[in-house]
Amino acid sequence: MKSSSDFTLHILGCGSAFPTPRHNPSCQVIDHRGSLYMIDCGEGAQATMRRMKLKFSRLRHIFISHLHGDHLLGLPGLLSTLSLSQVAGTVTVHIHAEGERLLRPLVDMLCPERSYSLQWDILNPAGGETLVDTGKLKVTTFPLFHRVACCGFRFDTSGPSRRLLGDMLDHYQVPVAMRADIAAGADFVTPSGDVIPNSWLSVPTPPPRSYAYCSDTVRSRAVAAAVAGVTTLYHEATYADADASLAVPRGHSTARQAGEVARQAGVGKLIIGHYSKRYNSTDTLLGEAREVFPDTFAADEGKVFDI
Ligand SMILES: [Zn+2]
Ligand SMILES: [Zn+2]
Repeated sequence: MKSSSDFTLHILGCGSAFPTPRHNPSCQVIDHRGSLYMIDCGEGAQATMRRMKLKFSRLRHIFISHLHGDHLLGLPGLLSTLSLSQVAGTVTVHIHAEGERLLRPLVDMLCPERSYSLQWDILNPAGGETLVDTGKLKVTTFPLFHRVACCGFRFDTSGPSRRLLGDMLDHYQVPVAMRADIAAGADFVTPSGDVIPNSWLSVPTPPPRSYAYCSDTVRSRAVAAAVAGVTTLYHEATYADADASLAVPRGHSTARQAGEVARQAGVGKLIIGHYSKRYNSTDTLLGEAREVFPDTFAADEGKVFDI
């Protein structure tokens, strides 16, 4: 599935811990203007990346939410393959401290001479960190509430609110020094005193967009506050109402609870995933989430969502 948007979410895996023929364990890739950011890296991630034609050479950051196998066991294989693919530049793995301690020696043994520079960045489980800031995209963390330390990730775009029209700037001979003011919305006053309205010199850009990833976690008002107002929210929906009693003891949520978080947070749309193996289809989960939050969609391997 192709998208013309410059900010997209690609679902590589949306099952939970137990493997099924229907779903891979957790993995997704954000494509922002051609740079790829992977969130969790369950088994099968690298093969699915190739199937979805996501280029290894564009992968810059990998964020691992927590140290359960269904979120990280694809990582050693992927990091080895990046070298086989002659990926250059720097790839940064953001992971909890114990994960770095265990995986770093394994990756160094499997792949001692890499084509790229591998950086390990230790996550603070309390959240509140900025992991990436390109000036156009910022990635920050917030705590999730699971059986082990777990981080959610929030992606926020930013940039000028207007795009300059080069031909018009040249036509009115707008000095380079004034172009930042024009991008901020100012009119241009010519040396002879004529006012050229901003709308002749620039056009509005799309409003900032944002994406938040919440897997795995119990339902939480703190999580709803951390993801308030995002354009697109991914929230785990491991269980249906019929199995709701399992959710809190296992550190997970129901689909209905995911809908409640989306409603509390006032998000644009909700995508659910991390389905328990016990369900043969997502129909019940999707229906229960939609009763609370109608703009809900079910993740599935190979799906691409505009953010
Ligand atoms: Zn999980
Ligand atoms: Zn987990």
